[in-house]
Amino acid sequence: MLKSKQEYVASLRDGRTVFWAGEHIEDITEHPRFKTPIEVALSDYDYDNPHKRPILTYKTDEGVSAHRVYQIPRSEEDLLNRLELMRNMSIVGGVTGVFMALMSIVDELRKVRPDFAENIERMYRFARNGDLRAAEVITDAKGDRSRKAHEQDDPDLYLRIVERRKDGIVVRGAKLHITAAALVHELVVMPTKSMTAEEADYAVAFSIPANAPGVKIINRSFAQPQLNEFDYPASAHHSMPEGFVIFDDVFVPWERVFLAGEWKLAGAFAGSLGLWERTGGVLDAVETSQIMVGLAQLVSEQQGKGKKPEALNGIAELIAYAETLRMSLEHACRNFETTPSGMVHPNILAINVAKYHFANNFHQAVKILHDLAGGLVLTLPEEADLNSNEAGPYLRKYLHAVKGTETETRMRVYNAIRDLTADAYGGWKQVVALQAGGGLLAQRVMMHRAFDMNAAKAKALKVAGVTPQ
Ligand SMILES: Cc1cc2nc3c(=O)[nH]c(=O)nc-3n(C[C@H](O)[C@H](O)[C@H](O)COP(=O)(O)OP(=O)(O)OC[C@H]3O[C@@H](n4cnc5c(N)ncnc54)[C@H](O)[C@@H]3O)c2cc1C
Repeated sequence: MLKSKQEYVASLRDGRTVFWAGEHIEDITEHPRFKTPIEVALSDYDYDNPHKRPILTYKTDEGVSAHRVYQIPRSEEDLLNRLELMRNMSIVGGVTGVFMALMSIVDELRKVRPDFAENIERMYRFARNGDLRAAEVITDAKGDRSRKAHEQDDPDLYLRIVERRKDGIVVRGAKLHITAAALVHELVVMPTKSMTAEEADYAVAFSIPANAPGVKIINRSFAQPQLNEFDYPASAHHSMPEGFVIFDDVFVPWERVFLAGEWKLAGAFAGSLGLWERTGGVLDAVETSQIMVGLAQLVSEQQGKGKKPEALNGIAELIAYAETLRMSLEHACRNFETTPSGMVHPNILAINVAKYHFANNFHQAVKILHDLAGGLVLTLPEEADLNSNEAGPYLRKYLHAVKGTETETRMRVYNAIRDLTADAYGGWKQVVALQAGGGLLAQRVMMHRAFDMNAAKAKALKVAGVTPQ
């Protein structure tokens, strides 16, 4: 059953334990800090909108309408529909895509633990039928990076099973940076990395309601509660908190457990998420890189340097960056892959290469934009000054550049550049480009795994004149 917007808001009043800036927030739906994030989440429940409904929904095999985030792609068309959905969906819907990751490992899991594979399928149906949202709860605190989970000074630095009971398991630990944790219904927990036999208690995966006893969510965001649209054109409508999620001896019934000590499968769980996470990252990268081209062109034209070689060269670099990303995404979809049970997903190598290209070059792209735009990126006065009888005329006089460009338009372009690349949201985006969906190392590892190295070696040997034995 699809939820209405009112039902979603009501569902958040469930006694979940949420903190922000030292305050224990009893009802997030009434708190100013959650106003924008809840509006963002509500955009995925916009089923009454005739333009969005066909994008947001699909008919299940049972003929019932459900959110398309739950549609398992079975063909290229399904995959393209999913991408269209991702372009039109909020980050809360985006992270609910964690169920695609779970469903993609069911085949492998079934060989070892058919009961856990069944748990995944049941939880998937439960979440789909209830039109629930879920968070991707993977990244552990991790402590000393040079030591394994069981070697840490504090054994809870990776989330672990502390008790096995007849009716379920008890887990303790913390998961960090969890996008939208306070705004979802289910926390889908998975191991952050492969585990060894000694780390078996850390090889744990499950789904638990956000209001389960012992779950505590400490929030952080780049955005202040209220930002005005003129000065913050991107972030005024876009903020979403990340959660520092604590599992303080949380009981998980067996029917919600997906992994409990089968350490050889921990890596498969961790890896399954990366693909869909990075696909979302690349979609966003295509959009962001095209916007950067547009901003660079506008800011250069508005200063009368649009045809100068410095601007043309910089903008050409940005075009190459944007087009490579767009073509990579297209290639990843055209050359899709299929799991044994028929789930279609983007090409793993192409998505990892694209995400790597995006993250590895993003800061350089921002540099080009900042170089072209100049100091006003940081020092432009605010909307209130433009509207002031005393200060406004000075802004109109001294921000005049190329004939025909309105001061207000110029200011809006600068505000977009600052908000997207140089202010709190811009800073957040720079770290997100690198770390969200895993750091550069995570993509390097996947590129090594997916690339056809034997074919490359054979070509190199042929050129070197070495005959294969
Ligand atoms: C805004 C934001 C949103 C996020 N959302 C989510 C989410 O919803 N769910 C979720 O689970 N995670 C989320 N993440 C977490 C993200 O996946 C991690 O930040 C990322 O995987 C890096 O892990 P880390 O932050 O623990 O840093 P680290 O593990 O310290 O990594 C930092 C760098 O150190 C390198 N490194 C780490 N260990 C070693 C080692 N032993 N040897 C050599 N190099 C090493 C890494 O490759 C990386 O380059 C989010 C992150 C951000 C910034």
